[in-house]
Parts: sequence; C-alpha cells; structure tokens
Amino acid sequence: MMLLRHLCLTGLLATAALAQAKGVDAVLQQHAPYAVPALPYAADALEPAIDAATMGIHHDRHHQAYVDNLNKAIAQDPALQSQTLRALLAKADALSPALRTNAGGHYNHSLFWSVLAAPGQGGQPSVELAAAIEKQFGSMETFKEAFTKAATGVFGSGWAWLIVGADGSLQIATTPNQDNPLMPTAPTRGQPILALDVWEHAYYLRYQNRRPDYLAAWWSVVNWKEVSRRFDQAR
Ligand code: MN
Repeated sequence: MMLLRHLCLTGLLATAALAQAKGVDAVLQQHAPYAVPALPYAADALEPAIDAATMGIHHDRHHQAYVDNLNKAIAQDPALQSQTLRALLAKADALSPALRTNAGGHYNHSLFWSVLAAPGQGGQPSVELAAAIEKQFGSMETFKEAFTKAATGVFGSGWAWLIVGADGSLQIATTPNQDNPLMPTAPTRGQPILALDVWEHAYYLRYQNRRPDYLAAWWSVVNWKEVSRRFDQAR
C-alpha cells in the first residue's frame, strides 16, 4: 500500500513537472512510472526521409519497450523510484545494465523525436548556432560531412550527437548502444542538442543496410528551430 501511494505521489509530481517543461525537457524531469511522450507530429510526417511504418514501429514499439523495461527494472530498486530520469542518467555508471540501457533508450528517443520535423518545416539554424557551427567546423557543409562521417562510423548500434561541451563549444560525439553524452561513462560529455539514431531499427524497412542513404535523407527532416532553441538553452 505504501509503495502504491508512493508511486501515485511521484506520478503526480511528474505530471506537475510535465505541465511546466515540454518535450524532452519534461521527460528528463519524469520519475517512475515513466511514460512515452506522444510524437509531436503524425507518423507519416517525415516521409519520404523516414517512412510512416518505421516511425510507428520505432515510437510505439521500440521506444515503448525501453520505457516498459525501465519501469520493470526500476520496480526492483525502490530507492531509485523517486529520482528523475536526469538523475538516473547522471549516475549511469552505477546502474544495472538493464537500467542503464532503458533509461538511455527513453531519453535518447524522446530527444530524437523532438529534433525532427516534416521536410520544409524545420527552419534554419539560428544566427547564433550558425556562427558557432562555422567557428567550430568551418562551414555548415563541413559540419554535416563530419557529423555524417561520425554517424557512418558507429560500429553496430548507437547514436551520433551534436553537443555543447562544458566550455560552451560545439562537439560531435558518438555513443554505443543506448548510452548518451549525459552519462558519466561517455567519452565526450555535454548537453545534446541534436541526436541521430543509427540503430538498424531506425532505417532498415526503407533503407535495409544502406545507412549512408538514411543519413543523407535524414538532414531533410532536422528541426533546426528546436536544435537552435536547445543550443540557446545549453550555453
Ligand atoms: Mn531507436
């Protein structure tokens, strides 16, 4: 009974936090029991770059499975149930493999949905973000080449990231499996402002093994307005 009450209370607190923050920011403030956020657009909105079937399966089944498994794993560890997702990620090195994988999977996918938009709807990088990209990488073109190269080079399943490091500079990073740059175990740490899922489940239906084709098409659905907002927030 106490446990039930506790779960209800943390659920209410998480709901209160959700009312203030939005999207992936709200997800970072969630406590157990975790929930998958709705897609901020229709499943077919990213056609032709990402097909509706892939989006539906990826969001409704894969992301849901990370959340279900996160809730199952955390039920074994009552001490962690009142902690936010952000707090869990910050001590990923101390978590069981199941908690680490599924907490990462929940955050990574929540961010991924939020930094995508229908073709033509994502806008352009803000003046500030464009200037930072030029300063760090030379040009938008060379940034895209470097990011694509990093994403292509992820061996097996993983993610590519654009992050704001502790010194405020932009950096490209990659992580294996469902790790991310918020985890203390990440080789390059920082605040992610752009995320790219290169697991085969993100592209296999349309692109089969052709990850480079998926990456080339993916740029057409980047939500630069949201990436720019995140850049402002992270600095
Ligand atoms: Mn995925």
